[in-house]
Amino acid sequence: MNIILFGPPGAGKGTQAKKLESLYGYKHLSTGDMLRAQIAQGTPLGLKAKEVMDRGELVSDDIVIGMIKSYIDAGECLRGAVFDGFPRTEAQAVALDNMLDQCEQGIDIVVEIDVNDEILIGRILKRAEEEGRGDDNVEAFKTRLAAYRAYSGEVLPYYKERNLHTRIDGMGSIEEVKEALQNTLDKSQAA
Ligand code: AMP
Repeated sequence: MNIILFGPPGAGKGTQAKKLESLYGYKHLSTGDMLRAQIAQGTPLGLKAKEVMDRGELVSDDIVIGMIKSYIDAGECLRGAVFDGFPRTEAQAVALDNMLDQCEQGIDIVVEIDVNDEILIGRILKRAEEEGRGDDNVEAFKTRLAAYRAYSGEVLPYYKERNLHTRIDGMGSIEEVKEALQNTLDKSQAA
């Protein structure tokens, strides 16, 4: 199964993707994590991306599509994947469909995790203390949230038209959200 977890910064996409990876063996593919790995290694790509990320803006389609492509080409999608933070533009969504099509797969479901803004900012500030991410501060968070509002209006219709979109309540505990997610995936597999 190929799943897209969609939601604002702080919605818990990464946390839930890791749960799905250990429960079902689906590969967790996070473009944000891949970019942070490039930054940590000090690669030219990482240096280029860091400034954009620290401002809370989107890096270019070519960069993120290229990173996902290298995983898919390496066979990572064969047992299914959980896409976290990708796609964020319609061009990325189209590229993802084309890449999956080449291994005779497709997106099975897009789960939008709903969380209100006050809870999000609390989670982001907590993560700033725990992980020290360059973009986990109030200013960058506001830009990321505005970016999210804009790109969700671009990406979600693409999946709604294909009847692949669904939403879950992301305001409960990690366990509660995990259960809601599992129920949703079970239902979609049974359908
Ligand atoms: P995330 O960890 O998913 O919140 O991503 C952190 C930052 O990485 C974002 O604010 C963007 O600057 C960049 N980024 C991650 N994924 C993408 C993507 N699919 N398209 C463009 N930029 C991305």
